[in-house]
Amino acid sequence: VNSFSSVSRPERLAGKVAVITGGASGIGEATAKEFIRNGAKVIIADVQDDLGHTVAAELGPGSAYTRCDVTDEAQIAATVDLAVARHGHLDILYNNAGITSSSVGHLASLDLADFDRVMAVNARAVLAGIKHAARVMAPRRTGSILCTASVAGMMGGEMPHAYNVSKAAVIGVVRSAAGELARHGVRLNAISPLGIATPLAMRGFGDMLAWADAERVRRLIEEDMNELEGATLEAEDIARAAVYLASDEAKYVTGHNLVVDGGFTVG
Ligand code: NAD
Repeated sequence: VNSFSSVSRPERLAGKVAVITGGASGIGEATAKEFIRNGAKVIIADVQDDLGHTVAAELGPGSAYTRCDVTDEAQIAATVDLAVARHGHLDILYNNAGITSSSVGHLASLDLADFDRVMAVNARAVLAGIKHAARVMAPRRTGSILCTASVAGMMGGEMPHAYNVSKAAVIGVVRSAAGELARHGVRLNAISPLGIATPLAMRGFGDMLAWADAERVRRLIEEDMNELEGATLEAEDIARAAVYLASDEAKYVTGHNLVVDGGFTVG
């Protein structure tokens, strides 16, 4: 139960237009809901068409779904252009779509085709998203671009190498591009969550722990990895971090990696 839901607050994203990739499920879906609740218009961009349409319908007229395979730059460009055509401007791009690596195990068995596949979605697409969002944001001297990285990108060993590297790349891209974008009035930040039992994480940890059933995998994510006593990380916690970074409350925050991990990476 999301205990924040019933609290009445001002709309922190009123008048803003957002595109959320991977918005049909998990963190992206929770963020779409939170953005709408805070007064934004949201375009959900994903490859799960049925789910995307359902989520957009649930969220009401402020939300729409469009198919966008983020590995295809032309589809990212078209999604950004769709937001501008429909609403006149784009204020927020959340590069959140992601996949896990199926190449689990030691370096000797590393599948480099899998590495390329993971990098295409988790890293290359983030750079493409930044490129096209900046194309429409920079001329207006305003905008906030967010990217879901991961604690996996800050440390070794938690997930397969391809996934860890792809998330380190997201943090690297933010560091690399934020300075240039700052000179155009556009902010760029990453969010690094610990584990949340979304379809992606259930698949990722399930592949690594072939001996464990789904309930055991869920417990590993929700309890065993948890460092913060008395709390469980939920997709809504990431959504609230995204609202902050997307809002004008964070108007001077850029080039940052907002780690939401209950202290996991600090030990
Ligand atoms: P999820 O499986 O619920 O959502 C991922 C979404 O990305 C899905 O809707 C999927 O269809 C979409 N997607 C995949 N490939 C795509 C493509 N080529 N084009 C467009 N959309 C595509 O999982 P989630 O956990 O909500 O994942 C969201 C992000 O959070 C990912 O980048 C993931 O790596 C990151 N993350 C997740 C966790 C976790 O434990 N769940 C932790 C840290 C970071």
